[in-house]
Amino acid sequence: MICRSLISLERFLMPNACIVCGGAVSPRASDGLACPVCVSRARAVSGGCSRCHQPLPPVGPCCFCAEWSPRLRWARSGFWLGDETRAIVHHLKYQHCPGLATLVASMMASTLPRPPQGWLVPVPLGGRRLRHRGYNQSERMARQLGTRWGLPVAPNVLRRARETRTQTALTPEARLANVAEAFVASAPPASATRGQGSEVRWAILVDDVLTTGATLDAAARALAVAGWPVIGAVSFARAMPFETRVLDGAAVRF
Ligand SMILES: [Zn+2]
Ligand SMILES: [Zn+2]
Repeated sequence: MICRSLISLERFLMPNACIVCGGAVSPRASDGLACPVCVSRARAVSGGCSRCHQPLPPVGPCCFCAEWSPRLRWARSGFWLGDETRAIVHHLKYQHCPGLATLVASMMASTLPRPPQGWLVPVPLGGRRLRHRGYNQSERMARQLGTRWGLPVAPNVLRRARETRTQTALTPEARLANVAEAFVASAPPASATRGQGSEVRWAILVDDVLTTGATLDAAARALAVAGWPVIGAVSFARAMPFETRVLDGAAVRF
């Protein structure tokens, strides 16, 4: 709490310093935390696999999404995790800057197409982490995205069934085990399922960073068990492919 107060005090005293480069940020900037130059340096994710948009191997099909639940039809990320996006995510999650969700959502909406009709479903935090942080950054992002895309947010559809370790220091295999059956979900409203004359409605997961996809896949499996017919996922940033190959438990930090 003292740390959080000091961070707030620092931002109060130096409200116009860019969190990435330390340069001046115009007081008129919508978020006041990252300068336009740093924002413009973020590299958008495009192309690759038609389902997950990961770069394809030189030969053969995509391996990145091969093991995902069939109900998870697609996953898109706005930007590659680089110096700029890493700093934004770090401040959004660990430096008590929930207002950065506004910038994150506007950046995502600038590169990602509007998803099909459905509900935005933020990936939940465990109770302990939520109490410590005071907010769920994915829910803040989902609310901002919902405003931009005209989609409702369903913040209580997905819940943590148990506490999990932070994924950042785990190998891909350990990530899978860490989040397996970590979520439970509520059934979709009747209008989400294919009925007479009604259009199928999506559950669109919202998360800050996609690394191996293990968390999104576990969340999608819980939604599928609860009866959600089709699921998509959007994230702000995506770890570069080489960063997903974590050796000997070495930490991928952001
Ligand atoms: Zn900057
Ligand atoms: Zn793929």
